[in-house]
Amino acid sequence: MVAPCAETVPAVAPVPDVVERRGGCGVGGGGGGGVMAAPTAEAAAVAAEAPKAAATAATATAVTSEWSTTQVRSADDERRIKYPGFEPGTPAGAAAADFVRRASSSPDPNFRPAIKWPDLGVQVFVHVSALYGLLLALTTAKLVTVVWAIIVLYASGFGITAGAHRLWSHRAYKAKWPLKLLLVFLFTIAGQRHVYQWALDHRIHHKFSETDADPHNAKRGFFFSHVGWLVLEPHPDVVAKRSQVDMSDLESDPIIMWHKKLYVPLFALLVIILPVWVPYHFWDESLWTSFFVAFSCRFCITLHIAFFVNSVAHMWGNRPYDKNISPVENFAVSMAALGEGWHNYHHVFPYDYKTAELGNYTLNLTTAFIDFFCWLGWAYDAKSVSDNMVKRRVLRSGDGSHNLWGWGDKDISEDDRLELQSLERKEKSQ
Ligand SMILES: [Zn+2]
Ligand SMILES: [Zn+2]
Repeated sequence: MVAPCAETVPAVAPVPDVVERRGGCGVGGGGGGGVMAAPTAEAAAVAAEAPKAAATAATATAVTSEWSTTQVRSADDERRIKYPGFEPGTPAGAAAADFVRRASSSPDPNFRPAIKWPDLGVQVFVHVSALYGLLLALTTAKLVTVVWAIIVLYASGFGITAGAHRLWSHRAYKAKWPLKLLLVFLFTIAGQRHVYQWALDHRIHHKFSETDADPHNAKRGFFFSHVGWLVLEPHPDVVAKRSQVDMSDLESDPIIMWHKKLYVPLFALLVIILPVWVPYHFWDESLWTSFFVAFSCRFCITLHIAFFVNSVAHMWGNRPYDKNISPVENFAVSMAALGEGWHNYHHVFPYDYKTAELGNYTLNLTTAFIDFFCWLGWAYDAKSVSDNMVKRRVLRSGDGSHNLWGWGDKDISEDDRLELQSLERKEKSQ
């Protein structure tokens, strides 16, 4: 399903996983007596495991000697010296760079995070009061209050998925101000911090996925990536990267900056007061019950659905697009999180507004939401990758679990297609 305003990203040559500025400073310049650092045994071992990198080690030796008289080196120059075979922009370079990145991404064993006690206290309160709210929802609450809490839960979910995630973190489509206002309103009700903070951490999560700089690094275990990261001091790499990520687009958006400025009163008004007041005012629910059902329980469930994307969708499922990364395709998370569980696809193509290949509305309600606003004219320039880009990536790095959607899928092999057609002809002739 293609949105009326969807634009397909043209099929271009595959972009290496790590794109670095090539060459540059210091080439042939200076002539000073800088001493070339010989590759260490550890570095050689690392490089040897990068298959294509090792194959070009001889070439790299020549390259490293070229840098022996260089005083000022770029990051790429450093990598050429440290990891023989590294050459940005070439398949061997991409493989080596990718391997180097992953080899260095095991969690820092020396980091012992301090507990953020106020945040832990908030989480304990939210969870205990949510359990009580669940009890009330199943016993004394009016049915309409429970229905209201579910409506608020899912409506605010679109603020996270279509707003903070696909629009503001990834710029996968553009929105006119009425839609931005609607999304920021819904997002605030979900109570997931202000848009700027959410998008900043999410950009870091994608850019430095599963390194110490990833705020909810899934390599630190289920509990940490699910909720632990909110109650523990972040790793210094997270803090460092927060100041390096380009946020200029959001900084120039007055809606986002006003949201940041007014977040505390907005939180009180839209996360607590409004959802609790409506059942009390319109159908005489008690304030006590309304608070624990429409705030505590509803808010806690929203948190966990969002957490599942960071934990479960980085652990259990298939990896049809890139088997070398931990994000997976997870049906259950997609059902709960309005289509955000197709996470292997999403980490490979984060700029695709569908965050999934087929855009199946049943399992991706956020895509339906965005398509509706495209039709209305409030959303536009939705980006979606081409079939060829997907196919190339599946063949290059998939785990073999890529599915066919049925007859007509371009991924059906030519042999299978011809055989099926000949079977069909045979059956007809009998
Ligand atoms: Zn994302
Ligand atoms: Zn992720």
